[in-house]
Formats: sequence, C-alpha cells, structure tokens
Amino acid sequence: MTITSFPIWFVDVVGSVLMIVFSFISVGYCLQLKNKAPTDIIINYLLWVCVALAVFAISRSAGHLLKQIFLLIDRRDLWTAIQPFSGAVNTFTFIVVASVTLFFERTWAIYGTILKDRQALQNAHEELLYLNQNLEQLVEKRTEALVISEQKYRRIFEVSKDMILVTRTDGRIVNLNPAGEQLVGITAAGDGNLEGRFFQSFLSHPEDWNVISRHIEDHGFISSAEFDLILEGDARRRVLLSGSLSRNPSDEGETIHFLIKDIEQRRLMQKQMAQADKLASIGELSSGIAHEINNPLGIILGYTQLLLRSEPPHSDRFSDLKTIEKHVKSCKAIVEDLLNFARTSSPQKENLDIHVVISEVIGFVRHHSNLENIQIETVFAPDLPLVLMDEKKIKQVLINLLMNAIHAVGRNGTITITTGLNESASRIAVEVSDTGHGIEQENLLRIFDPFFTTKPTGEGTGLGLSVSYGIIKGHGGNITVKSEPGRGAAFTIALPTTAPLSGR
Ligand code: ADP
Repeated sequence: MTITSFPIWFVDVVGSVLMIVFSFISVGYCLQLKNKAPTDIIINYLLWVCVALAVFAISRSAGHLLKQIFLLIDRRDLWTAIQPFSGAVNTFTFIVVASVTLFFERTWAIYGTILKDRQALQNAHEELLYLNQNLEQLVEKRTEALVISEQKYRRIFEVSKDMILVTRTDGRIVNLNPAGEQLVGITAAGDGNLEGRFFQSFLSHPEDWNVISRHIEDHGFISSAEFDLILEGDARRRVLLSGSLSRNPSDEGETIHFLIKDIEQRRLMQKQMAQADKLASIGELSSGIAHEINNPLGIILGYTQLLLRSEPPHSDRFSDLKTIEKHVKSCKAIVEDLLNFARTSSPQKENLDIHVVISEVIGFVRHHSNLENIQIETVFAPDLPLVLMDEKKIKQVLINLLMNAIHAVGRNGTITITTGLNESASRIAVEVSDTGHGIEQENLLRIFDPFFTTKPTGEGTGLGLSVSYGIIKGHGGNITVKSEPGRGAAFTIALPTTAPLSGR
C-alpha cells in the first residue's frame, strides 16, 4: 500500500465496516417499528429492504475487507481465487435488493387496492349503520302509527251500532262486536263464548249461508243483501248484510268481514207508510163516492118522509116506506162515516182534559160491558196537559175502540184504559187494551182498511177503525195496535198536547 492509496484503502475498509453497521442499525430500527405496527405494509417492506441491504452489505463489505486483508498479508493469489465468487455473491445480493424493490411496486399496488376495498367496506359499514339506525326509527314510527290505527279501528269495532262480524270461510265466528252480541242476544257473562259457533246458526234459514258464501266465493264480496236473523226466544230480525273476503289470510286461513245492519224498524216503518198511502188513496176515492151518493140518498130520504106523511100509520105502505127510510138512514150513516174517514167535515177543536172525555165515554158503554160482565179499568197518569181536540170525534174513536174490545172479550174479561205522557211532554197516549181473542198476524195490517171486518154480516161494517184512523190523523196524532192471537189486543192513540206540563 502506498501513501497516496491510503485514503482510498481507509475509506474502503471503514466504509465497508460502516456499511455493515448501518445496515444492521437499519434492520434494528425496522424491527422496532414492526413491533409497534406489525401489519403496516410499508414498515414490513422497509424491513425486507433493510434485511436485503444488510445481506448485500455483508456480502460486499466482507469481499472488500477480505481483499484488503489478503493484500496486506501479501496473499493476492488467494484474493484472485475468491474474487469471482465475491463478485457473484455481490451481484446476487444486489439482484435480491432490486427484486425486493420491484416487488414493492406490485405489493404497493395490491396494498392500494386493499386499502381502497377496506375504505369501501368501511363506507358500506357506515352506510349500513346509518340505515340500521334509521330503520329502527322507521320501525318505531310505523309501530306507533299501527298502534294508533289499531286503537282507532278497535274503537269503531266497539262503538259501532251495527253488527261487525268476522268469520272463517266456513262461517265459524272469529270476532263479534258488542252491538252484534247485543243483537243476537249473547252476553259476555252468559253464553258469551263464541268458540266453535257458526254464523249460520244465527240465520233464520241456515241454508241462506250457502247463498252468502257462494256469492262471496264468486265475487269476493256480498253487498246489501237482506236476511232474517233468529234471536233469543225465537224472535226474528230483518238485517241488511254486506261482507267481503279478506285478501290477507291469517295463520288459520281466509276470513270474511261482515257489516250487518238491523233494518227491522225501517221495514216496519215502510209497511206503515205503505199502509198510510193506501188509506189516503182509499180515503180520496171514498170521499168522491160518498159525495156523489150523499145527495141522491138525501133526496130519497126526503121523498120517503114526504110519502110517509100522506100514509095512514099501520098501513102496509106505511110500514114499507118505514123500511125504506130505515135502510136509507143506515146508508146515510155509512156515507157519513166515509166522509169522516176522508176528513171532509171540518173538526170543531177545543182544549179538553182527556180524562173527562174518557170517563164520559165509559159511561156510554157501561151498559154493554155490564151486560157481558166485563170490567173497565182505568190507569190515569196524573197531571196530563190539555189536548186540542174535536170532542165528538175523539169520543167516536174511543167508543169504537171500547165497543170492539167488548166484542172481542165476549164475556168475563177486562178492558183497561191507560193514559200517559211521553218524555218531551209533546204527546199524550191513550191505550185501550183488552183480554179478548186478539188479532191474527195476517189481519194486523188490514184492520184499518175500510170495510175490513171479521164480524158476521150485519154486525160490522169494517169502517170503525178506518174512520178512527182518519180522525186521529186529522188531529195530528197516530193510532197503532199490538196484538197476539189469544192474548188480547192493545190500541194506542197518541195525540199532540197543546201546552207542556209545566205550563199548566
Ligand atoms: P168492525 O168493528 O165493523 O168490524 P172495525 O174497523 O172497527 O170494523 O174493526 C175491524 C176489525 O178489526 C174487526 O172486525 C176485528 O176483526 C178487528 N178488531 C178491532 N178491534 C179488535 C179487538 N179489540 N180485538 C180483536 N179484534 C179487533
């Protein structure tokens, strides 16, 4: 070694040693870093680069140091022998360093993709979390709305005055609202257990269920169909039924939802209105005929009475004329009744106490009732207001009702006259009830028809009730009847009051 080559030698030897030392320090630092972040790809990569560099540093520095040692001990031959291997090892370790560097490019690209995917996953996770929170809120809101809606519909179900019924498709009852229970006479305390009961058992004709279910099967619904329900004690009630198949079957199968309206009252009213219409048109017709007949009858009666004056009494012609007079008079009485029925004669109304009127009428018929041993009892309500009435006509109505009652009782019975006032004190009621033979169901609607009578010819004209009907209607009131064959009859007259009770 010359003086001038000393610096190069020094740098080569010291540089080689430092290269090993630094590369190992780097490896040491990298290991520390790796301990802190074992999964960090850059630190891992740095470690590998450092390790590769350390290997390279050992290989290269060992070669250089050996060379300097061999030259120092003057064994250049040895150095010449191992020089090619040292070069090969250097090249190889350098290739390793280059490969690690190149590999980093690929690893970095993959790491980038992984990072991106991780970010995407993170975003998806956050989005899911957000949705989940919102979903909870949404579910909460929906549940609240459902509870409110359930309460609302339950209330409709409970307070409805119409029957609401849910059945299976075979008619088995699932649910019945309180109005329905009341209508069919089921009480929660009594036979309120509807389990296993079928709707058809409440139909007056159970075979009607086939019609209902077939219609629902074919069309999915049934609308406003009229049926009869059978109630407690075999009573029947006309109902209007609508129903539809539930498209959302429950666990146990499809259900039918029914709305059933009690139309018995409406039907009765319709019948009464039809009856009133019929009577009004008969009245119009009768009044026309009565007017036409009244005049010729008056003339016949006048001439008959004229002829009677010129005939000696007890002669045959006198008795013939008397017969004509009697029959003409009875014809006139009927015509008079017909005119009354048609309300053609103007009433003479004054404010009267109905109890006084009733007592006088009882006095008139007392003779007949006593003959048949019939009791006439009165149950008078106290403090009834006065009633504006045509005394003669109201008496005619009462006499007619009492005479019919006496006739119906026959012998040994009771007739009761009861008076009362309605809640608003706008009407008084007079009920004439008897213990007679009663009225057949099919005759109930016909008894107010003119000329309808069940009495033998000569005993009844069938005009009494129709005339009474006309008189009461003329007073702004109404007359109704309740009766069952064999259980007597009860006629009720309702008349408007002139002044409320407090006004007296
Ligand atoms: P009439 O008395 O001339 O037959 P009405 O018009 O007064 O005519 O009565 C018609 C029918 O109504 C009677 O024939 C009878 O069948 C029936 N009727 C009326 N009142 C009673 C009663 N209290 N009980 C039973 N049937 C009655």
